[in-house]
Amino acid sequence: MTPFVYTANPVRVLFGSDLLKTALAEELTRIDAKKPMILTTPEQESDGRKLAQYLRGVECSVFPGARMHTPVDTTLRAMDEVGRRETDCLVALGGGSTIGLAKAIALRTDLHQIAIPTTYAGSEATPILGETENGVKTTQSSARILPEVILYDVDLTLSLPPALSVTSGINAIAHAVEGLYSQQSNPIISLIAEEGIRALTSGLPRIVADPSDTEARSNALYGAWLCGTTLGAVGMAIHHKLCHALGGAFDLPHSQTHTVILPHALAYNAPYVIDALNRIERAIGTENAPLALYNLAKSLGAPTSLKELGMPREGLDRIVELTFKKQYWNPAPLEEARLRGLLLRAWEGAPPGTD
Ligand code: NAD
Repeated sequence: MTPFVYTANPVRVLFGSDLLKTALAEELTRIDAKKPMILTTPEQESDGRKLAQYLRGVECSVFPGARMHTPVDTTLRAMDEVGRRETDCLVALGGGSTIGLAKAIALRTDLHQIAIPTTYAGSEATPILGETENGVKTTQSSARILPEVILYDVDLTLSLPPALSVTSGINAIAHAVEGLYSQQSNPIISLIAEEGIRALTSGLPRIVADPSDTEARSNALYGAWLCGTTLGAVGMAIHHKLCHALGGAFDLPHSQTHTVILPHALAYNAPYVIDALNRIERAIGTENAPLALYNLAKSLGAPTSLKELGMPREGLDRIVELTFKKQYWNPAPLEEARLRGLLLRAWEGAPPGTD
């Protein structure tokens, strides 16, 4: 067996349904937290206030200001509230944007975090934080950033619109795909990643057919946890690099960009990652993983081109430049002509190719 290093991220996970009425209060008692602050986006404020009502007798505040890409000015505003309210625990109710805000506050205060995810992005399971200041997004990793507790309550995902469920789920699959061929890949994470892909690719079509299918939603949420765990444990490669560059330079929507790029990034790496391909194909039940991921997105009505996300064609040069400027490790060598081919196919929405 190839030698490996595996570092587990410590976390307490509660998974189920109808958890919120009791589980959050119990978790707060367990860590002796008396003044929690619930963080949400403006869109999910009413969910946050409902959650606060379950905490009878607890001095709870709600900060409904979380925004995409974790702007530092939002974090500083939230920190003022944290100080004023003498907050002793952060409760993030939402997707990656809200969990990002809790992480940014925890990085600066070391406050305990309870993450309650409502999308499949997987940020709750990682010690990674991306923050934006003056239009520049930077990423860092630290033990302080990792949430201590995750409450996965499938009921909260029922309201996630099918279109967002699909792209969020494929965003999660991307973590597992790159985890399987990561420079730090190891047998434990490969098991987790393969199972994550299996759970999500089987759950997503059923969610689109019936968004209230709790069993399918549970599968997807379980898969999201596994894929997030993969992202938190091993480094990523060209797919994440390209999505980071596209999101930062052209403000493209996060999960939709991942959905468009993934089949093309996997096709780019395919000749160099045979073991990962075999595992992905086994998980999906297919013989051509890049094409299967492209067809999955297309059949579920997700975007398949950068063009439809609003990316200008002449912007592709900028992405090539950014990719070469600060290079990631990647199993296939970075070659300008192949990279341009990948980006052009992704921009047009063509099926993934290998040249
Ligand atoms: P998001 O958190 O931005 O949510 C998108 C929208 O959906 C928001 O308006 C939100 O309020 C709404 N929403 C969320 N859950 C809902 C639900 N169940 N029902 C109805 N509406 C709901 O989206 P996201 O894709 O989860 O997160 C994207 C952000 O997370 C990006 O900034 C990305 O960089 C970050 N991220 C970070 C990591 C990490 O490990 N650091 C991992 C993945 C994503």
